[in-house]
Amino acid sequence: QPTIGVLAVQGDVREHLHAVQQAGAQGTTVRRPRELAEVDALIIPGGESTTMDKLVRAFDLHGPLRERLAAGMPAYGSCAGMIMLADRIADARPDQQTLGGLDITVRRNAFGRQVDSFEEDIHFAGVDGTVRAIFIRAPWVEEASESVEVLARVEEGPAAGRIVAVRQGPLLATSFHPEVSGDHRVHGLFVEIVRNYLVEGKQ
Ligand code: GLN
Repeated sequence: QPTIGVLAVQGDVREHLHAVQQAGAQGTTVRRPRELAEVDALIIPGGESTTMDKLVRAFDLHGPLRERLAAGMPAYGSCAGMIMLADRIADARPDQQTLGGLDITVRRNAFGRQVDSFEEDIHFAGVDGTVRAIFIRAPWVEEASESVEVLARVEEGPAAGRIVAVRQGPLLATSFHPEVSGDHRVHGLFVEIVRNYLVEGKQ
């Protein structure tokens, strides 16, 4: 059973721990470099990316996280976690940094103030049927390089066609929050990615 850490400096940590367990892996919180060293993979939860960035640096996790990601550790980011994994932010706060890894540009709070939060059933590559996607002040992926696989797009309304789920090698990210919907298939997909990575060994 792989051990999947959930970055626990800020955000909806408990929901991800629960989803990871439901998806058949062991979940544990990560707040310190030595806890990071003990996990096979990491989830970066939803929350607030500027706050998360500040806390990651305050907890001396920025360097260790970047090192593990560069070494090929699988990671999954939902919402603010997607922003943390993005190489570029379209509208970053002046001193906002990300961990990077995904060759994408994200736009924060992209769906606008009028639609703070909404839900939609969307198709998700690798998952049968549809997934209930819950968006809360969500980012979208404004640009993705050719090495990035697009897994899901918004299907209805003015934002139809916008990219909201991507994968690049062992990195997975969603604009929405599968951890709060009670449907653990996206976490299941991530656990599969982690299992394959453990079998293949570190690239
Ligand atoms: N708007 C938040 C940010 O920029 C993300 C919201 C979320 O994670 N639900 O970090």
